[in-house]
Amino acid sequence: MLSLIKYPPRLDLARIPTPLQLLSRASDKWCAGKRLWMKRDDLTGSALTGNKIRKLEFIAAHALERGFKTLVTCGGVQSNHCRATALVAAQLGLDCHLVLRADDGPEQNTGNFMLDQLAGATFEILSAKEWTSQLKAIYARLQSELAEAGRPALMIPTGGSDSLGVWGYIAATEELRGDLNEHGIQRAALTLATGSAGTQTGLTAGVAMFDLPLDVVAYAVCDDSDWFNRRVARDWQASLARWPQLPRIELLPKTRDHSVGPGYGLADAPVYELIAELTRLEGVVLDPVYTGKAFHGLLADLREGFYRDVDDIIFVHTGGVFGLFAHEPQLMSAASAAR
Ligand SMILES: *Cc1c(COP(=O)(O)O)cnc(C)c1O
Repeated sequence: MLSLIKYPPRLDLARIPTPLQLLSRASDKWCAGKRLWMKRDDLTGSALTGNKIRKLEFIAAHALERGFKTLVTCGGVQSNHCRATALVAAQLGLDCHLVLRADDGPEQNTGNFMLDQLAGATFEILSAKEWTSQLKAIYARLQSELAEAGRPALMIPTGGSDSLGVWGYIAATEELRGDLNEHGIQRAALTLATGSAGTQTGLTAGVAMFDLPLDVVAYAVCDDSDWFNRRVARDWQASLARWPQLPRIELLPKTRDHSVGPGYGLADAPVYELIAELTRLEGVVLDPVYTGKAFHGLLADLREGFYRDVDDIIFVHTGGVFGLFAHEPQLMSAASAAR
């Protein structure tokens, strides 16, 4: 496909284009005459799955081009982004070091954290409090230690959300343009979970740049709408400062925050029940940290008429399947309640 803009160097890591799938039973059940589609970015790979790979195609290309030998990144113990970075590093023959934030409970060697270790990533675990106060200093220390050791590191922020990662979902909007044509979709709401705002920034920017008939609506899984709207604006400014080929446009992000629930990584029972319900109905598995909460927020908006002006809704399935395994008790009780 001929690209609409000049992209920075990029590796071929994600299995794309991903399918745009019509969920017909879910449409009948929850959408009263509208069509509900899922952009299956949970199918960008197997262990290396989800939205972070699209960003890492650009981040890792930059690391190789500049001769970095280590990828350093950070996130919660069950971070999908950390797992994807650990696997990409292994695939490229680079080292990986993770700065992880402890969850509330004891760390379970399961899900993403198990895969980090299988991939040979080294890690350190901080309490939530240490994370807030020390992360910056730890990044500075790691950067100089690894350089001295002859293994210079690219320091990647949470979620890979920076002026390199943003290209992943700018490129994805070009893919969506093809999806709209192929499926005859005239105009749609494009909905997603937002956590570190990189996916939201890329999609909001790409839709504006390529003038697509899509309204991007992001569902927060932490913080609030104002935080995300400011963060998108700030990251976009940083991207404009770095990349002369980006058009000087202002973004108007839309974030909904009734989806946050008790906080990052925590979900109420109805979210677990919805995950069980959708899995039975469509064979599509959402996760409790991101996609399940966002989808729950989307259904509430559908009931309240927030989407009365569109006939088609696209939900971006950003992945997260390994995050399920740290929530086994809640998911098992949701599964048996649905039985
Ligand atoms: C990281 C993540 C998101 C959020 O993406 P951001 O770009 O960090 O906002 C959504 N869903 C899943 C499954 C993720 O791992």
